[in-house]
Amino acid sequence: MIWCPRCEQGWVVACRIRGRQEQFLVCEECDTVWESGEPENTPPFVILEQYLARFGLSALWCNLERI
Ligand SMILES: [Zn+2]
Repeated sequence: MIWCPRCEQGWVVACRIRGRQEQFLVCEECDTVWESGEPENTPPFVILEQYLARFGLSALWCNLERI
């Protein structure tokens, strides 16, 4: 796993939304989402809340499935 380059306090894990195909990386600590590429401390990234809102979901980890 990758140590988060943004908060430097958590692991970046591969996830997807339950029932969806798209895979992304997300930090367990600061909820930063990288939709493609390697985690970096510079954009493009989004926050989990914004990412899940696109699909009408609230920012709960139970909406996610670890890969
Ligand atoms: Zn983080």
